[in-house]
Amino acid sequence: YFEEYLKPRASRGLADLFEIGLLPPLRGIYRNELEPSWDDVWARLRSEIKDTHLDAVLLSHAHLDHSGHISFLNPDIPVVCSSTTAFLAKAIQDSSKGDFEKEVCYTLPREEQGRLLTSRTRQKSASTQRQFCFPHPTLLSSKAQAFWHKAIGSREMRFKHPIASTKAGNLKIKSFPVDHSIYGATAFAVETSRGWVVYTGDLRLHGKTGHKTRKFAEEAARLQPLALLSEGTNIDKEEEATTEEEVMHNAWQKVKEAEGKLIVADFGPRNLERLLTFRQIASECGRALAILSKDAYLLQSLHLVMPEIPDPAADDTLIVYEEVKDVSGWEKELITHYKDKGKTVQPIDMRRDEGNYILCLSFWDINELIDIKPSKGGLYIYSSSEAIDEEQRFDIKRLRQWLDHFGLCPVGVPDPETGKVAEDEQGFHSSGHASASELSELIEVINPRIVIPVHTERPELFLPKVGAQSQVIIPEIGQPIRLQ
Ligand SMILES: [Zn+2]
Repeated sequence: YFEEYLKPRASRGLADLFEIGLLPPLRGIYRNELEPSWDDVWARLRSEIKDTHLDAVLLSHAHLDHSGHISFLNPDIPVVCSSTTAFLAKAIQDSSKGDFEKEVCYTLPREEQGRLLTSRTRQKSASTQRQFCFPHPTLLSSKAQAFWHKAIGSREMRFKHPIASTKAGNLKIKSFPVDHSIYGATAFAVETSRGWVVYTGDLRLHGKTGHKTRKFAEEAARLQPLALLSEGTNIDKEEEATTEEEVMHNAWQKVKEAEGKLIVADFGPRNLERLLTFRQIASECGRALAILSKDAYLLQSLHLVMPEIPDPAADDTLIVYEEVKDVSGWEKELITHYKDKGKTVQPIDMRRDEGNYILCLSFWDINELIDIKPSKGGLYIYSSSEAIDEEQRFDIKRLRQWLDHFGLCPVGVPDPETGKVAEDEQGFHSSGHASASELSELIEVINPRIVIPVHTERPELFLPKVGAQSQVIIPEIGQPIRLQ
């Protein structure tokens, strides 16, 4: 129903989301302030309303298709996740434009004005931080605490310090780090009166830390789980997945061939692992990796809980690309800080010295090329999802126009007609999700009595793959699954 320019209206609270059926009809879990007194939002629901109490939310990772709708939950409900996920969630919210669907970490108070819900004036009220719980005891440095408590802009923050917890209500929970295309991804197990119920979150075996996913499967197997909720994004992908190492190797070859020319690397938002892959390539080739301020903000926030992630302010290879625009708030602060350290580069510097940089941009920032004016013969390495839908084909068409205009050579860019990457240009992206054979392998090791496919468009494909070993229950919207 919704897309880039057609969004649920924040001024109508929960109404738009209920009307379309995007939120489940569970009364008692949402933010009261999103139910305006003049509109009975619950009357919009066609399905049966269930009165519900939530002890906690288990958040597997900070991708918005998993975390985004936490925005609508009552901020008193605790969110259980890794410290990495919590810090990424805050950095993502801090650096996004006050979007109604991105209030994952803290809520902006709203009030009724006439027949609209508007955010309250800053002077009048503070943001409310959600209670985050880390399943592993985590010592936060004073710098990390300062980041967590910090409000963006002039609004104050009613902050809540994260607490350690291995329980959700009365239920014992276990957490397992897994490998995915965002740091901090976690699988969970919950001990119920009938046995353990395990949830994979999003995961893969072919990533750099695929061993974590394997270890999760072995440990989950020891619980002899009653049920496994398994992601199945790529259950229809039989071919072997490209690894992050292969991406590094392939991209490196290309970069070496483009000496003296500008190289642009385009990869998915928040894929910091890919960013660090390009950092390594840049470093080996004697180039600097120029990143946008929002990526620098994510990296420096993550560095606070993952010291092995480089702090861009202190790293020899990373530099912040200074877009030609009026900056304010967190971004202004960040740019000033990096500028003082001599860690920014402007388009004009890049033009003068284009062979010295790899620039991390996406299609949505492509107009920066107008300011850089790269010379012909540079590269645009598309290191993003290779499967594109009907709508994205138009974006790819536009992207190719831009590259053509500036004489940049496309590498790994899909063909807008077929939606596929040419055979000899594949291998510049590694999927964040397990392939069909990886999923079968994981489920075989975990050996649950019941498998419940989630996060997939093809749940029925689990049946032929794992149906002989486990009972497969395909979930239906609004239908509870009772585990016996
Ligand atoms: Zn994900």
